[in-house]
This record gives sequence, C-alpha cells and structure tokens, in this order.
Amino acid sequence: MKYISTRGQMAPIGFQDAVMTGLAPDGGLLLPETLPDVSASLTDWAGLSYTDLAFEVISLFATDIPADELKALIDESYSTFEHPEVAPTVRVGNVHVLELFHGPTLAFKDVALQFLGTLFAYILERRGGELNILGATSGDTGSAAIHGVRGKPNINIFIMHPAGRTSPLQEKQMTSVLDDNVYNLAVDGTFDDCQRIMKTTFADVPFKTEHSLGSVNSVNWARVLAQTVYYFYSAFRVMKESGAASVQFSVPTGNFGDILAGYLAQRMGLPISKLILATNENDILSRFFNSGVYGMADVVPTISPSMDIQVASNFERYLYYKVDANAEKLSALMADFNESGALKIALNENGTVDDLFVAGRGDTECTMETIRRYHGNTGYVLDPHTAVGVYVAEQYLSETTPTICLSTAHPAKFTQAIVDAIGEEVHHPTLDALASAETRCDSIANDVDAVKEYVVEHI
Ligand SMILES: *Cc1c(COP(=O)(O)O)cnc(C)c1O
Repeated sequence: MKYISTRGQMAPIGFQDAVMTGLAPDGGLLLPETLPDVSASLTDWAGLSYTDLAFEVISLFATDIPADELKALIDESYSTFEHPEVAPTVRVGNVHVLELFHGPTLAFKDVALQFLGTLFAYILERRGGELNILGATSGDTGSAAIHGVRGKPNINIFIMHPAGRTSPLQEKQMTSVLDDNVYNLAVDGTFDDCQRIMKTTFADVPFKTEHSLGSVNSVNWARVLAQTVYYFYSAFRVMKESGAASVQFSVPTGNFGDILAGYLAQRMGLPISKLILATNENDILSRFFNSGVYGMADVVPTISPSMDIQVASNFERYLYYKVDANAEKLSALMADFNESGALKIALNENGTVDDLFVAGRGDTECTMETIRRYHGNTGYVLDPHTAVGVYVAEQYLSETTPTICLSTAHPAKFTQAIVDAIGEEVHHPTLDALASAETRCDSIANDVDAVKEYVVEHI
C-alpha cells in the first residue's frame, strides 16, 4: 500500500515513510492510494479479539512490515490497556457506550498514541537514527503523547505546557512520568506562547533536520488507522447482540480525527448507517455539515476542553474524498480557506452536505444536564466530552439501528465538571495514585532560543 498527499504534489511513499513523515511536503495530508473493500472479511472478523482484529485491519495498510513483527507490535501497543477487551462496549440506557478510556492516561488518544509510539521505536530500530519529539499542550493531550513514547529507545520527548495554567491533575499526569527520555517544560507564558515556540522551532528547517525533530500531532496517518479498529470491533459486538444489520455512531468531535476513522471504516465496507458528529460551542464542524460552509470562529473555552478547536486538522482528509479525490479542487478549497477563513461546498438535492453525516452541537448546559440525567437514570457517569456526543445522539435515535456513542475519556479526569453536574466525585485508582507521585519538570523562559538550547543540551 502506497500513500499519496491530498494536495497531489508528492510521489507515492510506503507506510513506514508515511508514519515518519507525518505531514506531506506539499502541505497536504497523507492518505492511502486506495481503500481496501473488506466487506467479504466482515463475517470472519466478527469474533476476533481486539488485537487480532487490529492486526487484520492494520496489515492491509502497513504492507511494508512483516506479519509476525506487526502482530508483536500491536500486542505490545495494547498491553498497556487495563481492560482485557481494550475497548469494551457497554449498554447504557438507550445507547451503547464504546469505552475508549482504558489506556494509561484514561483518554481515547491512548488508542492511537500507544500504537504510534511503538511503531516509531520499531521503525527507528531498523532504520537507525533518533527522533526528538517536541510538542505543546494546554494540558489534556500532552500526557497521552508522553505515555506513548516513555522508555522507548532512540526517542526523546519534550512537552511544553504553560506554567501554572494546566489543571493540577493534568500536570501530574505528565510530570509523574520519570523515564529518562521524557522532558516536561513549564513555560513561563500561555498555551499560545508554547505553540508559537513550537511552530517557530519547526520552521527552522536546518535546526529541525540537524536534531531530528518530529511531532506526534493528530494528522499522523498511523493514528487515524489505529482508530478505525474500534469502529469494527464495537459494531461487530453490538450487531451480534441486537441482531441489527447496521449501526450508527455518535462521535464527540474536535480535530475530526476520531470521526474520520469511522468514515474510513464505512468506506471500507463496515455497515454504518449514520455518523453523528457532535461538537460543543466550538461548532465549526457541525455548522459545516448543516450548511456546507466551513468558516472559522473564535475558540470558546468549555468543560469539554479537548474539543475546543478552531480549525480541525484532519478535516482536509474528508474534504479530499468529498471532492472525489480531486487534489486540484481540494487545493483550491484549502487556498480559499487560508485566504478568507472560510470555504464552501455545494449541498446535494436534499439540502445536506453528506447523507452519511448528521451533526449537532451540545452546549455546556446540555452537557451538564445529560451527565446528570444519565447518572440519575442509569448510575453511569459520562465524561463531559462523551456527554456532548450522547446529547446529540439522542436527537437521532432509531428503532431499528442501534446507536454506539464513543466515550473518549474517563469522567474522573474532569472532576470539577462532574462534581458540578452530579454533586459527587468520581475516582479512578490511576489518578488517585498521582496525589503522592514523585514528579519531574523543568521551568523555562518564554523564549524560543531557551527551548532550543534546552533540547540540544538534553538529546
Ligand atoms: C481529542 C479528544 C476528542 C476529540 O477528538 P478529535 O479526533 O480531535 O475529533 C474528544 N474527546 C477527548 C477526551 C479527546 O481527548
């Protein structure tokens, strides 16, 4: 399987190169040249364990890794998950909740980043060289990246967070990782400062090349690929349990990475009748699917912070398929967007962007109400991100097609919102243990050169 760029200006490359490249040199995102049709395999796959299924799916795309090595790599990636099923689905009221939070940081990003970290180490071991990951986090996503590569040979990770501005729990999830290859930097500034330092450092191409700088951002193809697996896994289980011939998924969405994986699974032949896209107040994507206009707005901070985005980094991949894989058309649309902050797609006859998608938004009040109501009716506690998805899903429930709601974080990660909603705390032993954990973190000036110097000194 070869990979191409959505912008069409790159000669096709193999899977391992695609993983190491991240972003295409022409500014586009990488996609497989073709999507395999797996319809004929679905019956055989339905009973597989999570990791056996992951192997079947991923091996179609990672064709430059020998089968036995790929299998070992997948087994290693998911050995850090505390649930034997990796991603179990549980019945809660009228919906099925797909729990994606059984990894080391209790959030769905672990599913992708545990795999990506293992994959990086595998590729570097064979090709030689090293990778120095530099990232910026406002708190929630940095820890999944750190846990993905902790202790891996030939990899260092430097994660900047704004000093004193991340929640104490989130900070501890990062700084309690004491492996030698992990560097937490508390920057004397804001999250925007951290991002500016990162972008400026990456823009210094000679520096980036000399020090093998890389990132683990959500556009890496391996992350999307790893996420397609749980759509298959949960659909098989819910279809078997209910006798239904198809399912619909509701996905709390920020950067469009998670729901994109569902879209690809559907295109590969998994019977998904609807993808329900749910956003919080930061609703650029739900506005798009309801109007055809993708237009930037200011970011509003919410109680589902991992969905507080302005521009969805994986959206371009969807748009590429939407314009029938026409790289020229796609490039023109992206140019419109970069110039004016908006792009527009023609609606089809029935007034929608895409018959597969419906989209809605759940604001803070709806989120809180949903958490409270599910807790009251079922005893189950939804995290704020998951609750946004459940709230929007409720508007699209079907008599005949079961609804699977992706649960992207454990509620104990967002204690304050949960206490506000249900009046009691939710605990998780992993997080409780952090209270007494030893931590390591270096303070650093709000300055690009200071960060560069630090990186050079420590690699
Ligand atoms: C990242 C994240 C999301 C959003 O996923 P995207 O792939 O960015 O759409 C939702 N919930 C949680 C808890 C997350 O960490």
